[in-house]
Amino acid sequence: MNVVESLRALIGEKAVLDAADVATRSAGVWRPDNLQAAALARPANTDEVAQIMRWCHANKVAVVTQGGLTGLVHGSDAAPEQVIVSMERMRGIEEINPQQRTATVEAGVTLQALQEAVEEHQLMFPLDLGARGTATLGGNAATNAGGNRVIRYGMMRDMVLGMEAVLADGTVVSSMNHLIKNNAGYDLKQLFMGSEGTLGIITRLVLRLREQPVTRNMAFVGLDNFDHLASFLRHMDRALGGTLSAFEVMWQDFYRLVTTPPAKGNPPIAQDYPYYALVESQGADLELDTLRFNNAMESAYESGLIVDAAISQSETDCHHFWELRDDVEQVMHGGLPIIFDISLPVEEMEKYSAGLQDNLPAAIGEHKLYIFGHLGDGNLHVAVQVKPEDYLRLRPIVEQQVYSPLAAFQGSVSAEHGIGLEKKPYLHISRSETEIALMRNLKTALDPQGILNPGKIL
Ligand code: ZN
Repeated sequence: MNVVESLRALIGEKAVLDAADVATRSAGVWRPDNLQAAALARPANTDEVAQIMRWCHANKVAVVTQGGLTGLVHGSDAAPEQVIVSMERMRGIEEINPQQRTATVEAGVTLQALQEAVEEHQLMFPLDLGARGTATLGGNAATNAGGNRVIRYGMMRDMVLGMEAVLADGTVVSSMNHLIKNNAGYDLKQLFMGSEGTLGIITRLVLRLREQPVTRNMAFVGLDNFDHLASFLRHMDRALGGTLSAFEVMWQDFYRLVTTPPAKGNPPIAQDYPYYALVESQGADLELDTLRFNNAMESAYESGLIVDAAISQSETDCHHFWELRDDVEQVMHGGLPIIFDISLPVEEMEKYSAGLQDNLPAAIGEHKLYIFGHLGDGNLHVAVQVKPEDYLRLRPIVEQQVYSPLAAFQGSVSAEHGIGLEKKPYLHISRSETEIALMRNLKTALDPQGILNPGKIL
């Protein structure tokens, strides 16, 4: 049995790369290494994905689905004997229906391509994250991506109305629902969302679109204590009457990192506050929205919730503010970062971060600690930067330090990046034995031979 020849016979000569060609491709945006696999198949449509899966199922060959390779948890790593199914040729936006406010897309469409395509209909697809230009919608669904606007629109699973997926044995489950409400039995698409390619291959999606906001007001805010940060979030959400669209936070070290060279950004306000918040409001009335936003900011200042703020005067300012938040790559400068995406109750965040600051020096010695994230969603990103030569040795110690305190208050080891290979040893911190057993049952039911993304999550 020759994998490459067999797959070529099914979907065409050029559509399948052999192991040597695969090895010339990068393993991803965050990765220094190249891909490896027995073959990389590039199907053009769902039927070809089904043919590949029927063959792999019959021959017990493991399959790893890949999208934009922007993941952070080794969720789409492939081994030399496995087959990669890349969605790179399935990039069609099949339909945008402005009345129903839906888009029908193939799984390989990038997030940014869809965001731009719906703009001309005065609509928007609200999922947004730094990797928008490369990350694919199929990957966003398979990992249930989060990002910057979860506070208003939810995560990817809240934006998917319909889905088509190919099961391990090649069965196509087409569930391309266009309705917002459909309670006719189990919501099957939710099974595949966040399953990281272990239960099926997502091939097409029906996505829910929203009206495009026409106004945007933003502020970069300095605060002198954490309690004020949590109160300021509630104050803005209440005062803005439903138009709050982002509430991002930065601890001082991260703010300094992204506003000091070699970072390109300039600090909009002084660099010596312990906490910073980036607030965004999106609405539809230029005059009233700005008035309401400025009033909300003014009352926050007068009541002492915030001590300093830069308020956007233009779209350029807004763009500049977001560039600072999105400049996460700065954590790569001067060392290697170990990056986390934890969830925890807002009222535990201050104690939790102080604990990390106290305990890390004794545990790992010299390092840099950066904390930032989506406060409104209870999701913090923690980046612990260490010397490259210490990375492998320190990594498990850092993981232990970051994850173990979460168990005490039912926090999550993954708010949005998923489990992949990286967090498998820590899944039990966030999921009970009963939950993990049910996950295993589902996996066995849908993929009895265990050929879909083997070894990931469970
Ligand atoms: Zn995030």
